[in-house]
Amino acid sequence: MNIILLGPQGSGKGTQATLLSGKMQLPKISTGDLLREIAQGKTPLGEKIKSYQSKGLLVPDGIVIEVIKGRIQRKDCKNGFILEGFPRTLMQAEHLGKITAIDKVVLLKISDAEAVSRLSTRRQCKKCNAIYSLNNIEGNKCAKCGSDLYQREDDKPGAIKKRLQLYKKETEPLIKYYGKRIVEIDGSKPVENVLNDILKKLGA
Ligand SMILES: [Zn+2]
Repeated sequence: MNIILLGPQGSGKGTQATLLSGKMQLPKISTGDLLREIAQGKTPLGEKIKSYQSKGLLVPDGIVIEVIKGRIQRKDCKNGFILEGFPRTLMQAEHLGKITAIDKVVLLKISDAEAVSRLSTRRQCKKCNAIYSLNNIEGNKCAKCGSDLYQREDDKPGAIKKRLQLYKKETEPLIKYYGKRIVEIDGSKPVENVLNDILKKLGA
């Protein structure tokens, strides 16, 4: 089963993709992680990706599609995969449709208020990039490495609102595009409940 996880920032799609991957024995493909990984290698493709990222530019769709194509051809994807962080736009979805068939698109829904509340309490470790919620930590130190935590620029209220607006504008067309393949899930519930709802609705 080829699955996409879709949802606004703060909907927990990264977390759910990881959990789902374990439960369904399908590899999780995060385009963000994949691009970072390739950018660290000393290949021509890695250098290319790095040159965009170092200028703060988005990696062009054509390159991301090539990267995904290479990834899903690996053996571990023979029974399917869980794609997270891509596609974000209709054009990306159409490109993706040319290299693979998507069976289900899990749409994690949360209210804007919930997204803002979750993102604005998010803190990241300066050193190891671990992510925490202010609700679950004491003090301002990383539990893994002891370094200071900080609030990312894109997790500040003004930036969050912009990201949510962009998500809506870009994602609504995707919902129409995937039509019956969309599986709607209430993402505001606790992590375990959300996971169970997804598994139930996927019949997994
Ligand atoms: Zn750390």
